[in-house]
Amino acid sequence: MTTKPLAQATIIGGGLAGCEAAWQLAKRGCPVRIYEMKPEKYSPAHQSEKLAELVCSNSFRSDDPHSAVGLLKNEMRTLNSLIMQIADETAVPAGKALAVDRAHFAEKISEIIGQHPLIELVRKEITEIPVPADCPIILASGPLTSTALAASLTRLTGKERCFFYDAIAPIINADSLDRAIIYQKSRYDDGPGDYLNCPMEKEDYLSFINELASAQYVPLHDFEDVNYFEGCLPIEVIRSRGDDTLRFGPMKPVGLENPATGRIPYAVVQLRKENRQGSLYNMVGFQTKLTYGEQKRIFRTIPGLKNATFARFGSIHRNTFICAPELLLPTLQTKARTDLFIAGQLSGVEGYVESTAMGLLAGINAACLTKSKQPYVFPQETAIGALIFHLTRTDASHFQPSNINFGLFPSWNKKVPKKIRGKIRAEQSNSTMNRMVSELNLDTL
Ligand SMILES: Cc1cc2nc3c(=O)[nH]c(=O)nc-3n(C[C@H](O)[C@H](O)[C@H](O)COP(=O)(O)OP(=O)(O)OC[C@H]3O[C@@H](n4cnc5c(N)ncnc54)[C@H](O)[C@@H]3O)c2cc1C
Repeated sequence: MTTKPLAQATIIGGGLAGCEAAWQLAKRGCPVRIYEMKPEKYSPAHQSEKLAELVCSNSFRSDDPHSAVGLLKNEMRTLNSLIMQIADETAVPAGKALAVDRAHFAEKISEIIGQHPLIELVRKEITEIPVPADCPIILASGPLTSTALAASLTRLTGKERCFFYDAIAPIINADSLDRAIIYQKSRYDDGPGDYLNCPMEKEDYLSFINELASAQYVPLHDFEDVNYFEGCLPIEVIRSRGDDTLRFGPMKPVGLENPATGRIPYAVVQLRKENRQGSLYNMVGFQTKLTYGEQKRIFRTIPGLKNATFARFGSIHRNTFICAPELLLPTLQTKARTDLFIAGQLSGVEGYVESTAMGLLAGINAACLTKSKQPYVFPQETAIGALIFHLTRTDASHFQPSNINFGLFPSWNKKVPKKIRGKIRAEQSNSTMNRMVSELNLDTL
């Protein structure tokens, strides 16, 4: 007797979520076709034809297992995440954070996805959400989904899409940094550390924030209504909230004593390695919508950056997301069409790790559908479940995308000292994940 071959799942978007979803499906023996519009068409932020392109920072944030984002990463490692595996393999030194050599990272993922016998990669823009067929569809086209596809999503959901604005930080060529002024140190580390620091005296800082206040910015069409993601504010928006806000935010000098003076500077601009060879540095937290000319002029007033040359300037983009509490089931299937999953940042999460996690979950659940099994709902004690809780249980009228944070986990039923909360959350998540993997046969289905 011959068994019927499994139906081929469709994924739209070869970014972090789409690649992770494809990997999770293929790992469970399900064939996949993944559509990626690059290089035929690029979003305003994408530049490389590779899959899984990191459009801004090269950091996957903290790798501390007791932080919320560290815990989410560990859950994904337990579920054999491709993105986590390659991020670990292509890591560059970044203190307690997991940062990667972005080119190497994207290259490796493109190679694995491109060569996988169960994955067919089609380089083509999809302009309409495919009609229901006998196979799952995962929409993972990201916050910069092409206009035609976004319009199709609006027609399907009957809702206006939601938007917020996100900005990109500049990248500087290492050979243009003045290493006589800039020093190497990570916050609180004893050794030299992984970050470079441009030290600012009080007068440097005041002059810098004054320049920011009077600079020219790229105009946005509906600027009056602009809605930024609070975790990724442009420096000029932070500055507009007060003279000291940058000094207590991305330019915080705490723990960054300058070996040349033996003192902690008034403020610092931190630089993080962009690639393994250290030829490029990212300006940490320096996302901006200053015009390119103004970035060059103003950032060159920062001590140590007088001759800086820019490999990429900062910029700003409009992000699309859906109103998940109205549209999504906790399995990431849409309520209107259970063959259709929404994954990645489009689903209403924010961040590389969170977007990947939603790709991973959509991949597992699409594999369930392919194999005629019930899709899984992850419990809220897990970071994946906590994100789903945010997507599906928030009041729809106030819904905004969120990073993972402990506020999304179940509330404590007794008083627990703050110091050990992360550790307890991690233990609960570990035991739930391990139980799910073994009891539910999550690895193979
Ligand atoms: C400007 C900007 C900066 C950001 N910076 C950061 C940051 O520094 N750190 C962080 O953690 N998060 C950041 N984010 C948020 C988010 O984590 C990233 O956007 C992340 O890449 C989202 O992953 P994704 O897989 O959902 O989408 P993407 O990684 O964007 O992948 C979507 C893919 O779909 C393709 N695509 C789009 N439309 C179509 C179509 N119609 N047909 C076929 N293919 C299509 C795109 O080309 C792309 O390759 C940023 C977002 C933006 C927009």
